[in-house]
This record gives sequence, C-alpha cells and structure tokens, in this order.
Amino acid sequence: MAGIDRKFSAPKGISDALPHKAAVVAEATSFFSALASLYGYSPIETPLLEKTEVFERSVGDTSDIVTKQMYTFEDKGGDSLTLRPEGTAGVVRAFVEHEVYKAEALPWRVYYIGDMFRYERPQAGRYRQFKQVGAEALGAPEPEADVEQIEMCLEFLGGIGVASPKLVINSIGDSVCRPSYVAALGEFLASAKVHDRLCEECRQRSVRNPLRVLDCKKAECKKATEDSPRTLDFLCEPCRSHFEAVRAGLEAIKIEYRLDPRLVRGLDYYTRTAFEVISGGLEAAQDAVAGGGRYDGLVELFGGPPTPAVGFAVGVDRSLSAARLPESQVTTKRSLPPAVPSFAPGGFSPDVIVVEIDESARDAALLLASRIRREGLVAFVSPAGRSLKSQMKHADRAGAAAVAVLGPEELSRNEVAIRLMFEPDDYERKQVSIRLEDAGKAVREMLYGRSNEKGTTP
Ligand code: AMP
Repeated sequence: MAGIDRKFSAPKGISDALPHKAAVVAEATSFFSALASLYGYSPIETPLLEKTEVFERSVGDTSDIVTKQMYTFEDKGGDSLTLRPEGTAGVVRAFVEHEVYKAEALPWRVYYIGDMFRYERPQAGRYRQFKQVGAEALGAPEPEADVEQIEMCLEFLGGIGVASPKLVINSIGDSVCRPSYVAALGEFLASAKVHDRLCEECRQRSVRNPLRVLDCKKAECKKATEDSPRTLDFLCEPCRSHFEAVRAGLEAIKIEYRLDPRLVRGLDYYTRTAFEVISGGLEAAQDAVAGGGRYDGLVELFGGPPTPAVGFAVGVDRSLSAARLPESQVTTKRSLPPAVPSFAPGGFSPDVIVVEIDESARDAALLLASRIRREGLVAFVSPAGRSLKSQMKHADRAGAAAVAVLGPEELSRNEVAIRLMFEPDDYERKQVSIRLEDAGKAVREMLYGRSNEKGTTP
C-alpha cells in the first residue's frame, strides 16, 4: 500500500517471540509455577513501573543498573518512573507497603514471572527486555531457606534442559563484617601495581564501591584482582556458621557447587550467601543463567521491620538458549490428553511441613522435604529455632495437611513421625512412624491414597 512505511522494526535489543518461541517460553514459565508451588511459593505480580527511587535505594546508586541501565522517564504529572530492571525491589516494596509482616505467617514465599528492562549493549544472551522467573522468601533467616531456593533454581534449570548448569557460591558477609572486608579490598585496589592495571571504570569503582571491581568482566581487571583479599577470610562468626550450614545442607541433598571468593553480585543489597548458576552451553561473558542470594537488610531499608530474606532470579531467554530443545513443535510422541482444564481460583496450602526439633535434624529435614516434593506434594522445611509447639501452630495456620517431625530420637531410629493435621476416619492413621527412605511415598499414600492422581485431601 502506498504511503505506508514497511520498515518498522522492534526497538534495538527488544524482540518478538513468535509462536514457536512463545510456546516454549509459556511451557517453561508454567513449569516454573508448578515447581515453585511444590516449594510452597505463591504467585505475586508487581507493577512494571515503579517510582525511580525504589531502585535507586535498593539496587544501589553506584550499581551499573542504576547508573547506566535504567529506562527512566518523567510521566505527564512530573513523577520520575522507571521500568523495572529486576524483580526483588518491587516485591519488597509491596511487602512493606501492604504491611504483609503484620498479617501473614512468615516466611512469606512468593514467586514471579515477568519482563525486566535494562539499557545494555545488546548481544547474544543480553537484551534490553528479557523475561525472568524468580522467587523470594521474606522473613526466612535460616540457612534452610537458602538451600531450598538453590535446589528449586537448579531443578528448574535441569528441568528445562539447560546444558551442564554449575552452581557457584560465596558469602559476602553482613553489615558487621563486610566493612572491614571492603576496607581491605579498597587498600588492595589502591596499591599502584593493581590500580594501574584496572580499566578506567574500575579505577573509579575502586574508590566509590570497591566490591564492584570484582564483578568486572574485563580480562585485564580479572587478572589484576586475582590475588585480592577473600570475603570468606573476613566473615564474622554468625555469617561463618550460616555459610557452613548452607554448604552442609547442599551437600546433604547432593548438590555440587564451587566456591568462588570473587562472586559478589552486581546489586548492592546482597548480604551473606551469594550464588550464581553458570551454563557450559553459553559464551563466557554471558554464561550466568541465574543469580541470587540473601538480602537481610533490604526490608528495613524500605522502612519495614528487620526481616531477613533470600531470593533468586533466572533469565528465561538466556536459559532457554542454553537448553537442548526440540527443533520443531511437531512431536510424534502421543500421550493421553489431559481433561479440559478448569478455572479454579483460590489459595493453596502445603501438603507437608517438615518440622525440625533442633538443628541436628537440619540436613535430614532438607533431604526429606526434597523426597516428598519428588512425589508431587507441596513440602518445605519449617526451620528450627522455634519451639515444637510454635512450629505446630505455624503449620496449622498455614493449612498444612500433615507435619513430618524430625528430632534426635527419630533420627537415631532412621525414622520420621508423620502427623496428620486433620482427623482421619481411622484414628490409628493420625500419627505414624515411617522409615526415612520410605517417607515420600508413604506420606503421599496417607494423604491421597493409592491412586496415581493427586486429588483432594481426604
Ligand atoms: P541479575 O538480576 O543481573 O542477577 O540477573 C539474573 C539473570 O537474569 C541472569 O543470570 C541472566 O540469566 C538474566 N539476565 C540479566 N540481564 C539480562 C539481559 N540483559 N538479557 C537477558 N538476560 C538477562
């Protein structure tokens, strides 16, 4: 047609997902929803636009995201708004704004699926609009929460077929011990033999925010900081024991990891555990498919009460390009089509909450929760440090169908006590002891009978 410019294209670094790709993305995100539900996470939607200071405050005003990558504009009323570059800040803002900490039993476990926007130099695996799936647990000080999230993140990546995902972890300390680390790092970076080899940008960073230098991807900066001080040598006792518990928990559920003392992550709000997942199937500069960690001080920064928290985000576009996917949507494999889905709004309640009587049961509890989830049941660990009575109350409030109690006595017999939270017809079923290895299948049978389909709780 005359007069119509056919040269329109999507903005640089932003692309369409045509049906073949969109179908794969939809499948991946619905797989994430299903997985997150098994870990006891509920969906949350926060706005695409936030007031600019939400990100300046949380992500940090010396971070690359805030200094260079935000899509910020003034709206017609003169307010400065920003397209979200990441998901955590909005979730924390919502948690404080709605005073969730007053109304809900903590931890508040939420997951999101949504688009993020960063003005970056576009290249393979790096876009200006990209989709992330992420999860946040607010009010979860215990190392169990870190371990469960790492497990969930890796299960997602493994489930969508990401090639050789490798977990890298570190602890970057907290407001007690990090200042002395940052001072030591600053001193190291200021020495002439290091300073002169840094890129121009890192020379500035070494004064304004030394941690950020360790994040630089340039070969010369990596080389110059090879012998920099290690965060792990500066941890205070509580941070050290937290990190040890995270490592022990990962080992208990057979998750392999590599320690990387240089892993500090690009955002200012992280404390203690920091982790990334790297895929061997991607180019080195863009090989991180997921990242996460603790942000124990962020809720307070937003004006809420002290609320330790942990979260992670996975880049969907990047992980799908690291995944081995079928070439075409046409499949010769046929399985029985599912019944027409029905719309069933409403909340959800966990099947099993695993209660530790004390910390000696921590690793066994993580393993048990993992086993129960493998049976398709919603299960997570209710962390130790609270009395058994208060943990039972918490399980009751959360609407759990059963609790699995683990303490030194049960462990010495290699058993777990499963207690139903409802009155069964046959009262003998109310509480039973089961061998740990058999507990996943047994609890599924107790709650849903022998059928293959997970139905409603009797
Ligand atoms: P971050 O919030 O920077 O820790 O990023 C978490 C994950 O999101 C990364 O590991 C990537 O998979 C993905 N990601 C971050 N930035 C981009 C981008 N510009 N384009 C595509 N994926 C991204």
